[in-house]
Amino acid sequence: MKLVSTRNSSERISASAAMLAGMAPDGGLYVPETFPQIPELSEKAALDYPVLSARVLGLFFDEIKGIEAITREAYKSFGHPLVAPVVKTASGEYVLELWHGPTLAFKDMALSVLPRLMAAAMGESGNLLILVATSGDTGKAALEGFCDVPRTRIVVFYPNDGVSNMQRLQMVTQEGSNTHVMAVRGNFDDAQNAVKAMFTDAVFNAQAAHKGYSLSSANSINFGRLAPQIAYYLSAYAQLVAHGEINNGERINFVVPTGNFGNILAAYYAKRMGLPVARLICASNKNNILTDFFKQGSYCLERPFFKTMSPSMDILISSNLERLVFELMGRDATAVSAMMQRLKEEGRFDIPKAMQAALETDFYADWCDEDETAQTIRRMFEQKNYLPDTHTAVAMGVFEKYKKLGDRTKTVIVSTASPYKFPEDVLCCLGVQAEGLTGFDAARRLSELTGLSLPLKIAALETKPVRHTGVYEKDALQKAVLGVI
Ligand SMILES: *Cc1c(COP(=O)(O)O)cnc(C)c1O
Repeated sequence: MKLVSTRNSSERISASAAMLAGMAPDGGLYVPETFPQIPELSEKAALDYPVLSARVLGLFFDEIKGIEAITREAYKSFGHPLVAPVVKTASGEYVLELWHGPTLAFKDMALSVLPRLMAAAMGESGNLLILVATSGDTGKAALEGFCDVPRTRIVVFYPNDGVSNMQRLQMVTQEGSNTHVMAVRGNFDDAQNAVKAMFTDAVFNAQAAHKGYSLSSANSINFGRLAPQIAYYLSAYAQLVAHGEINNGERINFVVPTGNFGNILAAYYAKRMGLPVARLICASNKNNILTDFFKQGSYCLERPFFKTMSPSMDILISSNLERLVFELMGRDATAVSAMMQRLKEEGRFDIPKAMQAALETDFYADWCDEDETAQTIRRMFEQKNYLPDTHTAVAMGVFEKYKKLGDRTKTVIVSTASPYKFPEDVLCCLGVQAEGLTGFDAARRLSELTGLSLPLKIAALETKPVRHTGVYEKDALQKAVLGVI
């Protein structure tokens, strides 16, 4: 399957080349030239996640051999036999749990596969240097994914004071002979800008090449992260059919807690590939720029930025939205370029009214403030015996409001993190006095309170040796990176 850029649809490249490049040279994102249709699968194959995932990836990465061996290996360490199980709460909600991977967040679904796909796509020579700026979850998931993958080396940059205690510990205790973690003095933007500068610095690229490395990235605009996310929507559907919850062919909704628009975009791709989906419900926190976009047809950056208890959704520039806009505009790359240029220069873009109507058949959007999110966590736990994390709770809160509109379509809520990644906030939402409790004490308290056992991956962090201690000024990063390759 060939891919094209959202800003220039005439140049075609293979999915492998697009994955290794990350982003198109014209600044656009790579998208498939056409949407392949979902292959016929037996029920057994559809419920065997590595098989299903390999069949979906094979539609795009047709030049890579042995994908099933890759997906088997990638999902081996997941803590659930179904990899991404759909569970039914006491009151009948369906929840698709995407956090049974090594770092307990949904980023693992793609970042377990991406490094192995990249290694397979690299060919016989050379090494990859993966540079990742993170505000928390992505860094750890990428470190786990690339850990000891041959011919790759990964460096993760995080803002020294900008990640949670648990997130920092997860990263600085990372094992593996090819993993490096650098704290950057500054905020996330400083770390991100330093990484972007390395990608565009010709001298730095030449120095890395001299040492046998070419640069690549693992952030969520990489097509290699998007493609592995399609399979879990198919898996969720197959599970519901297998359990007699829906009839084969019946259309269902998904509610997705959204930040960079990668997860929900994969659901949209699944729909375009033939999955019977009625509506995709885009759930935002107080940073509700997407809600406004879906309701009003304009994307406007001029607004305050809020720090919330669902930090992975604290985003104003949802990069993957460009891929949806490309489809809405009838794949007119020139129009998309103009809109993105306008976003950069004027901080906004608008879609034509006719396109907005088309949007409403596929999507609905709403948001929850911090209070609603906290109440949702408490209500879900006390009344429905299900404990969501702070991100999933946003989706559940939005779904409660959506149901009041009268849509009776069966709906799956997408759950993106384990509550144990955010123990202090979850305890606080449950009304427990948790002030002064450190991450681990808070996690143990949560476990006592809920009867859910503390995940080993969290418990083990407390005694794991710290391996990465470097703190760097942003202009010292290039030298530090060259020092490790
Ligand atoms: C990354 C993340 C999200 C947002 O996903 P997008 O693909 O960026 O929309 C939601 N919840 C959690 C826990 C995440 O880590």
